[in-house]
Amino acid sequence: MSKKKGIILSVVILVIGLFYYIGTEDQSGQFNSSRKLAFEDTGDFKIVYGEAKNSVYVEYNELLKNSHAFENLVIFLNSVFILRKDFPIIIRQCDTVNAWYDTEKEEIVLCDELFESFTQNFSYIVNTKEELDKAVDGATVFILYHELGHGLIDIYNLTYSGNEEDVADQMASIILTGLGEDGPKVAITGANYFYITSSEIGPGYAFWDEHALNQQRYYNILCWVYGSNPERFNYFVGTYGLPQERAERCQYEYGNMYKFWDAALAPYVKAQTKPGINE
Ligand SMILES: [Zn+2]
Repeated sequence: MSKKKGIILSVVILVIGLFYYIGTEDQSGQFNSSRKLAFEDTGDFKIVYGEAKNSVYVEYNELLKNSHAFENLVIFLNSVFILRKDFPIIIRQCDTVNAWYDTEKEEIVLCDELFESFTQNFSYIVNTKEELDKAVDGATVFILYHELGHGLIDIYNLTYSGNEEDVADQMASIILTGLGEDGPKVAITGANYFYITSSEIGPGYAFWDEHALNQQRYYNILCWVYGSNPERFNYFVGTYGLPQERAERCQYEYGNMYKFWDAALAPYVKAQTKPGINE
């Protein structure tokens, strides 16, 4: 499959997915209540397209820009979280397969190389272009939420226990399981990427150095999505290889995580958010 085609179609799917999220206003309210906010909302998440020298990435960034896919995601984030100052999400060529949150600059960087890695790695396991696009889209959104987890821990100065990498995966999973039909699928796609890159198929290693073993991340995310609604996702046990022994603890694990994030984010989440494109 041609790389370029995969990328173009991915952009299209990303847009649809994000419009869907924007449409699910009730779902975004899972953290909401009429609690007092920690500070006045004086900043915004902002998408910044950085430099790309590689002509494939230049074209890719143009397509992304024109699709407004990330801009739509940012509208959703701005409708949910309060910020003291602008929070850039930068998309650029990095010369490495990576994505990170920069604590000094307080910004997220998503590398073009990472999107390329998603496309390459998923092309090994999907049968159609449509499946590839959904996979690239899902993994991209999951990684963005994972990095957002690091970012929110930093800017809100959240106290947590355990490994921050796990905690960031937890936040991504908690938010995504609250986003309608597609959210849990996005989380599972992120998990699938970890599974694929744990078995030495294609590139994609640099990013994961300081993270839990990718297979562990896969089973954790699977467990949390299952735990969010064991009845709905009962086919995970067995089908996706979630062992019964672990599955029995997932609802409890998810419940604990939910309680933590619900309380931790409450002062920073706008009450009764109503996402809209004119914000
Ligand atoms: Zn991380």
